[in-house]
Amino acid sequence: MVQKVHNVVIVGTGPAGLTAAIYNARANLSPVIYAGLLHGGQLTTTTEVENFPGFEHGIMGPKLMQEMTAQAERFGTQIIYDTITKVDFSGRIKKLWADGEEIHAKAVIISTGATAKTLKLPDEAQLMGRGVSTCATCDGFFYRNKRVAVIGGGDSAMEEASYLSKLCSEVILIHRRDVFKASPIMLKRAQQNEKITFRVPYTATKLLSDATGLVGVVLQNTETGATEELKLDGLFYAIGHTPNSGVFKDFVDTDEQGYIRVTEHTKTRTPGVFAAGDISDPYFRQAITAAGMGCQAAIQAQHYLEDMED
Ligand code: NDP
Repeated sequence: MVQKVHNVVIVGTGPAGLTAAIYNARANLSPVIYAGLLHGGQLTTTTEVENFPGFEHGIMGPKLMQEMTAQAERFGTQIIYDTITKVDFSGRIKKLWADGEEIHAKAVIISTGATAKTLKLPDEAQLMGRGVSTCATCDGFFYRNKRVAVIGGGDSAMEEASYLSKLCSEVILIHRRDVFKASPIMLKRAQQNEKITFRVPYTATKLLSDATGLVGVVLQNTETGATEELKLDGLFYAIGHTPNSGVFKDFVDTDEQGYIRVTEHTKTRTPGVFAAGDISDPYFRQAITAAGMGCQAAIQAQHYLEDMED
């Protein structure tokens, strides 16, 4: 049997992958998109999205991803609910494997995203969106005039704490050491902010909740081991992200954290392989910026296919 060669295979169904699919499908390229373990990406684990343009009254994250999926399918995108576990991009025809099946494509768009790190405390999954969050820009608005904490000591933690201080009545920054990875200027800005108090060296060891959601945490001093309870309305993790790039690492360049390096708007070092969204963006990490990169990758893939035919 002759193996079918797809024009474009897109790996990952967050805003980047689905936007790429919409563009490539409308260009008659019949893209195939592999959904992976978390169809819809990180937005499916948030509640309301109020900063995606076009929805005056906001939209629930899972609903937004359902709409994007339906829009991609309407133009002929084929969605396959499988995970890519191996790739070989060494030839002109790119090879990918899902569940033992070999897939061939002329171009590939990687949009596998990044996973926010959490402390993996008991009940954490159930409290996500009910007091526990990994994105202040996304969820901070729901904690207006409330008491919240941010865990982390890097630039993200400082930035999230500063952002939340504009909305919340009180922000407590919890960090496990008394030295910080954050850049001095961002640290200083947070330290000088009257609404932010620092608790170091502490970590959270338990989430406290009632029927409404999170009500506090148990803090532990990482030097003395002493514990205490801290009442909170919201807890934001800012302890880094893990980019889901492992399977592609032999064919793309990554930075020291594993984010895929791109040049010229989504091009990786392998011709015909493009990367879009959080997988190549440790900085903005927004649904709208990911969608924009997905659009760029789709157009780049389209140009690549046109050049291939010449
Ligand atoms: P970082 O890796 O820089 O910092 C992660 C922080 O989380 C560290 O303080 C680390 O503690 C802490 N941490 C990690 N694991 C745990 C754990 N299990 N328990 C408790 N604490 C933990 O990640 P960021 O997301 O802050 O930043 C990523 C990159 O993005 C950086 O290069 C940063 O400079 C950049 N960035 C820049 C911004 C800007 O310039 N405006 C804004 C946001 C990010 P420890 O220090 O002990 O290891």
